[in-house]
Amino acid sequence: MRRTGQTLIFDADDTLWENNVFFERVIDDFLDWATHPTLDRVQIRGILNDIERANAVSLGYGSAVFLRNLHETFEKLQERPASLVERKRIDQLAGRLIRGEVDLIPGVSDTLAELGARHELFLLTKGDVEEQQRKIDASGLAGWFRQAHIVREKDVDVYRRLALDSGLAVDRTWMIGNSPKSDIWPARQAGMGAVFIPHEHTWVLEHHDLDPADDGVLTLKAFTELVDHF
Ligand SMILES: [Mg+2]
Repeated sequence: MRRTGQTLIFDADDTLWENNVFFERVIDDFLDWATHPTLDRVQIRGILNDIERANAVSLGYGSAVFLRNLHETFEKLQERPASLVERKRIDQLAGRLIRGEVDLIPGVSDTLAELGARHELFLLTKGDVEEQQRKIDASGLAGWFRQAHIVREKDVDVYRRLALDSGLAVDRTWMIGNSPKSDIWPARQAGMGAVFIPHEHTWVLEHHDLDPADDGVLTLKAFTELVDHF
């Protein structure tokens, strides 16, 4: 059954368009190259995860921080500064992240067009402002949203402030995204409903335990299924 006259807030990366899979490919190439005499891939990946977790707090998200994380991981593995050649190699591995286009998730455009006729749509994404704005522009989707917000971190306060500043009734507002940590959990804490659309390439730092009995969370298999519920 469809709900009427709702406010729908959309996550962007790995909800509207592909994102993390490109980082995963770079990490795979990095792990192929940055071998270590005693540590295996899983262990090296664990070191990278720890560095990413720490730097996300102080530096935020985006390609530039990711590149720095690779450099730090390499130097931690080698226990010495990287040579010029090694630095260039790492930069080269990550070079493919700087892309001018975005790959929309199948059906996103048509689904937003249909939802936009019945509901009020917002965009809420976190990361580097310039980088996220470039993706929004390249997506061609900006026109569907009443507002698009780029924030440093999607925590409970961000959801509360958005509701307050935009005059949203939280009991008619839903956050839609792939991240338990950034989309589902904080939106629920702020009193909004949440639509969880899992993506197989969701970043490990975006994982968070959810209450399986929480009936304020709707879980869908595909973005296109939204039109059956809203
Ligand atoms: Mg996401």
